Order: sequence, then C-alpha cells, then structure tokens
Amino acid sequence: MSNWNERNKEVIMNTYGKLPLVIDRGEGAELIDENGKRYLDFITGLAVNIVGHSHPEIVQTLRDQGEKFLHISNLYVNKPAVELAERLLAVTFPGKVFYTNSGAEATEAVIKLVHKWTKQQETGQDGIVVLKKSFHGRTLGALKLTRQPGVYQDFPVSEFPVYDVEPHDIKALEAVLKEKKPAALLMEPVLGSGGVVPLESNYLEQAAKLCQQYGVLFCMDEIQTGIGRTGKLFAYQHTSVKPDVVLFAKGIGGGLPLGGIIVKAEHGELFKPGDHGTTFAPSPLSAALGNTVLKLLIDDGVLEAGRRASEKLQTELQSLQNEFAEHIESIRGLGMMIGIVMKFDASKVKEIQQTLLERGMLVDVTQQTIIRLLPPLIVSDEQIEYFLQLFRDVLQEVSE
Ligand SMILES: *Cc1c(COP(=O)(O)O)cnc(C)c1O
Repeated sequence: MSNWNERNKEVIMNTYGKLPLVIDRGEGAELIDENGKRYLDFITGLAVNIVGHSHPEIVQTLRDQGEKFLHISNLYVNKPAVELAERLLAVTFPGKVFYTNSGAEATEAVIKLVHKWTKQQETGQDGIVVLKKSFHGRTLGALKLTRQPGVYQDFPVSEFPVYDVEPHDIKALEAVLKEKKPAALLMEPVLGSGGVVPLESNYLEQAAKLCQQYGVLFCMDEIQTGIGRTGKLFAYQHTSVKPDVVLFAKGIGGGLPLGGIIVKAEHGELFKPGDHGTTFAPSPLSAALGNTVLKLLIDDGVLEAGRRASEKLQTELQSLQNEFAEHIESIRGLGMMIGIVMKFDASKVKEIQQTLLERGMLVDVTQQTIIRLLPPLIVSDEQIEYFLQLFRDVLQEVSE
C-alpha cells in the first residue's frame, strides 16, 4: 500500500468526500488502481468520459494536436475550435458558439449574455428563473442560479434577480413569468446533482411555449445531459423544444476541460469585442478532442450503441426494482444518466457504495440516498451484466 491517500490529505484542500482510490490508469469502461485492481467505472469522472478512458482515437488526437500547438490565445484563428463550432451548430441550430473552460463558466457567460440582451430589449425585463434543486455551477454568478442550500450557502452573490419554481409546476412558472418579468429561464432537462430528475417532455414543451409568449430566453443547461449522455446529442432533442441558448461542458472535451454556449443566430451578435473573454478557452487540444468525440458519437455509431446499452441497463434495473421493491423506491433517468432511488438512509447507501467499490464497481451517490449511474456510452453488455450481478448480490445480502 502506498501513502498517496495520506499525502493527498496533507496538501490538497478537502472539498470532496473522496473514495480511497489511487488510480494508475484507465482502459475503456474500466479504471485500474495502483495495485492493478480493476474497477468498472459508472461515474466517468462525473459525466465526463463519455467514450470511456484512453480511447485510441482520443489518444491519437492528443498526439496529433499536441505536436502542432497547445495554446495560441484568442488573438488568432484556432482551427480545431472553428471546426468544432461548425459541428456543434450543424447538430443543434444555426447560431454562434462562445467557448469556456468549464461548466460554471458557461453559466457565467449566459448571465452576461442575458444582461446584454436585456439592455438591448429595453422591455424592463430583468433576472433569471431557475428550478428548485437545480445545479448550474459553483462560481459566484453561477452559484446564485444553483438552488441547493449546501452549495450556495451564504457566499456573496451578484446583484441580479433570480426566481425559483418547482420542477413540473407549470402554473408557478407562468405566474413568475407574468408577475416578475424575468429575461430568461434556465433549466437542466434532467436535474443531475438535484437527484437525477428527468423533466417530462410535455412540461419542457409548455415551458418553451410560455417563454415565447412572454418573450423570455429559454436556456438549456446541457452540461451534464449533453454530448450523448441521454441517448440524443442533447437532451432537449427528445422533445420539440427549440432553446435560444444551450450550455455544454463535461463530455465535450473527451476528458479535457472545455465548455461553452451555443446561441441562436438572432442573438449571435450580442457579445462584441471586449464584452467577454478568457485566456485559455477554447484550448486547441480540448477542441481537437471535441471534434474526435463528435466524430465517434455521430459518424462511428457510439451514440447509437450507447443508446441501446442504456435501454438494456434501464430495463434490467426496472426488473431488479420489482424484485427488490422493499429496498428500491424507483429507477429514473434518461439514457446513461440513471438514478436508483434507495429506501435506505444515507449511511446505508454509503455502505452499499463502499461494498460495490471493494468488489470493483464505481457508482456515485447524490442527494444522500440516490445511487447515480453515469456509465460511458462504450460500456459492453457483459459489463452491464457484471454490474447487475454485483448489485443484485449486495441487495440480497442487505435483505438477509
Ligand atoms: C457539472 C455541472 C455544472 C458545472 O460544471 P463545472 O465544469 O463543474 O463548473 C453546471 N451545470 C450542470 C448541470 C452540471 O452538471
């Protein structure tokens, strides 16, 4: 046993409850620790490694772009970034892209974009509506839109109105749009850290209609749901909704930091030189990986294979739920974003997570009692069976 866990505790600020794992490398859907033990990875670095670890084409792209240039700033044309924006617009809607390094920065960009739009409109609209339990990031602006008390705490916040409504309460949404005259509505199509809550298509479509009616920008936080996670490239594409702005991050960089916003053409000129910027984003290396990720998903069938695998996983989990209805409240989610709502208390769920880990299976826990699965799209049927068997064994043991 090495002392990496102790060294980590000595020098890294303790902001995450870490699992006691020291990773040596990753291969496909597996992570391998310093002792050579293999783990099936259904966390994927918190919804990042959508095509798994060390994908040969990702590694090749790293080499190819790495030999050309790593950073050039936004003062010159960045070819991989232009190509990636072209691809993103081709699979969403005509418009423009602004790049960031992370998800929270994509939210920050939306806040500034909405501000610019509000000033241009001169309708007196102001502020942003979000959903209760939403998560949009941890920087001070994004924090204000994140409605999880443990996250937003009492940190200082910027001065702009924010309203929150319960998910699926369309009346409450209409009331706030009517009475408060906000400029924008921001939501995750599937609430992620809020407990893996998929919003019904019907609700999203009604919300979109209300946004049109009240002249409000509809912004979709697809930072977790995007890049194929839910079985479509973006989760809003399961519905007829046409958002004004889409936020992306997590999966796009194939493991490297990259995020941004896609803005509908009519709002594509809102940012002018000097209005917003960043030194690093878009990293040419991350953007090159983004092109490879989209190629793998769309041209090489990974999206389709992942969608089929997720259907298998969901179906089998449903029958597991029937079998262990006394322990599992429900299975919910969309595609490879799955919440297993347990009927145990937080410490028991932690224990189950720990037991799974000891047996070589990595799963996340959110909102204390929900086991969250975020498998890579390249997971095989055998790996799904392996997980189901382990999980069934653990449920059997706690029943005894
Ligand atoms: C992870 C996440 C963010 C924040 O992204 P970071 O890259 O961690 O800043 C924002 N919104 C959603 C829905 C997320 O899942």
